[in-house]
Amino acid sequence: MWAKMRFGINKNVPWLKIGLPIVVGAFLILGVRGTFRKNTGEQEMLTPEAPMRVQVKVPEKVFRGSLVGKKLVALTFDDGPGEGTTTRLLDILKEKGAVATFFQLGMRMRVMPEVSQRAKEEGHEVESHTMYHQNLVMLSKSEAEADIREAQGVYREVLGEENRLTRMPYGNSSEFTEGVVGTPLLYWSVDSRDWESKDAEKVREAVVGTTRDGSVVLMHDIYDSTIEAIPGVIDGLRAEGFEFVTVLELAEERGVKLERGETYFSFYP
Ligand SMILES: [Zn+2]
Repeated sequence: MWAKMRFGINKNVPWLKIGLPIVVGAFLILGVRGTFRKNTGEQEMLTPEAPMRVQVKVPEKVFRGSLVGKKLVALTFDDGPGEGTTTRLLDILKEKGAVATFFQLGMRMRVMPEVSQRAKEEGHEVESHTMYHQNLVMLSKSEAEADIREAQGVYREVLGEENRLTRMPYGNSSEFTEGVVGTPLLYWSVDSRDWESKDAEKVREAVVGTTRDGSVVLMHDIYDSTIEAIPGVIDGLRAEGFEFVTVLELAEERGVKLERGETYFSFYP
């Protein structure tokens, strides 16, 4: 019977009875995944295209004078690249002369590789926020590994190197996901809660005033309200004497050697 099935269609097997549940099952699984993503407040996925293999020209470390004894802050942006929002943010950062760190999703880097490349070329740091923004602690080890590996592959293709940090979706990690990720994990110490307020003024208030020397600020470059808040955030922090650095610069400046599998929230003096 098995030999027959391998080499030709066996008319005795009720194909419709077997095939229909498989098709319905696949729809259910995909449908549930789609709903889950919508509930996270993420944008819809765009049509995936194969990313081009491009060599990104990264500038030499931008000289911003000595950072010793200065108040430092790392602005970080998750869930991008966002359609339209990230390029507007890059324009603002360029105009203001500030750097940031982007934790991007592989599924979005794949459709907007030029945005990730531009961020890198303009002196910002681009890191991984996994492939599909799944809650990794809810997955099996092999599913979590598959997500991380796929994200690493996209990162490599788009930016031509390995990501050095990972930020877990929802800030959720466990011992096994820490082992799977293979890089240091970066969290945050100032939460703008921009996804909740969607209000530029509230975002500015949440960041300016609560940021300390060595803070890592969490925002998302997929909301118009967040982009609208950024000029005020930068001006407000500058008025308090802050200098903007990337996460890796902040760690280096504070003499912290980032270890694989370890979790970091801030780099206070
Ligand atoms: Zn996220």
